[in-house]
Amino acid sequence: MDTPFIEASSPHVMNTYGRVPIALSHGQGCRVWDVNGKSYLDALGGIAVNTLGHNHPKLVPALQDQLAKLIHTSNYYHVPNQEVLAKKLVELSGMSNVFFCSTGLEANEAALKLARKFGHDKGIERPEIVVYEKAFHGRSLATLSATGNPKIQAGFGPLVEGFIRVPLNNMESLLAATANNPNVVAVFFEAIQGEGGINTMHLDYLKAVRQLCDQRDWLLMIDEVQCGMGRTGKWFAHQWAGIKPDVMPLAKGLGSGVPIGAVVAGPRAANIFQPGNHGTTFGGNPLAMRAGVETIRIMEEDGLLSNAAKVGAHLAAALAQALKAELASQAVKEIRGQGLMLGIELAKPCAALVGQCAASGLLISVTADTVIRLVPPLIMNTAEADEVVSILCPLIKQLLLEAA
Ligand SMILES: *Cc1c(COP(=O)(O)O)cnc(C)c1O
Repeated sequence: MDTPFIEASSPHVMNTYGRVPIALSHGQGCRVWDVNGKSYLDALGGIAVNTLGHNHPKLVPALQDQLAKLIHTSNYYHVPNQEVLAKKLVELSGMSNVFFCSTGLEANEAALKLARKFGHDKGIERPEIVVYEKAFHGRSLATLSATGNPKIQAGFGPLVEGFIRVPLNNMESLLAATANNPNVVAVFFEAIQGEGGINTMHLDYLKAVRQLCDQRDWLLMIDEVQCGMGRTGKWFAHQWAGIKPDVMPLAKGLGSGVPIGAVVAGPRAANIFQPGNHGTTFGGNPLAMRAGVETIRIMEEDGLLSNAAKVGAHLAAALAQALKAELASQAVKEIRGQGLMLGIELAKPCAALVGQCAASGLLISVTADTVIRLVPPLIMNTAEADEVVSILCPLIKQLLLEAA
């Protein structure tokens, strides 16, 4: 059972996170309890990871069954559920092949390597990749170089070269930044930026970039690590634009909490890697594959895409209603996002809300300084969404009344 905590602290763990001073013990559905027995409504879902919430009655027995069979074998052998999960992801995305890894940054690192080799294979020796302002792609050297946040890059130079940065939703900037540059091989972005503050790529922009990539023979690579896996009400957020990427990294929600990542490739990128080009020890292991297969099966059985769309729309509307006056006065700038990936942007920094909400029994996060991020489990119901609003909105109002 849990080691009792004198207080919630971890003096021997490397100090890389500003942690909320609570230690969680167990969960059920959209609720978690700390080691002192206090309960919290979970509107963070382990940062868009716990697709099925906690202790899901269908997932847990399946994982227990898998633990007793095989946890890990290595990629020296076929792992049957790799093929089952790959086939499913191909069916859901309309793409063609999948590489498995264990995290989001690894999926993105593989995507970046695919883009570079795509270039080298056609004689481009110094390939360049278009990336975006405010983007977040991970913490490895290549992925933090692709990330558009100076705070994440500070102290880790020299950065990996070969990136061209452009603003979101601006076709003229994209054209200007790549004009007469024969080294461009790919355009890489999140369909909805997560860490950057829940910033959405417009559907017409997505369509236009798809067209441009076709014209110029560039790979369209869409990081769906956070916005994918049903969160917006479609399997993948780019599907709202009716387009298909050439490369799509996935992770976070794909295994409902078991570490897993994947890179899904369309026909133009499916055969770039050959034996020996890329690999990872844990990638595609039997436990992670079972988690992915069961997560998708349960999502389909329980209609969680339509639930995410329905409860997300309800939550967004209820927030807008509760914050009507603040929206009118622009103290709350915007409520945005899609499905159960919502951001509430305030006119002032609001990191203090994380601790205040936790004290009131609600788990949320704040990203990009001023944006409250709600990415709850996709099993959340409308009553729970109403409870989020009833805890969160009074605290927002109170924060807005405090002097700057
Ligand atoms: C979280 C995230 C990553 C990094 O995933 P890790 O598993 O933390 O390495 C990459 N891209 C996006 C869009 C993310 O939200």
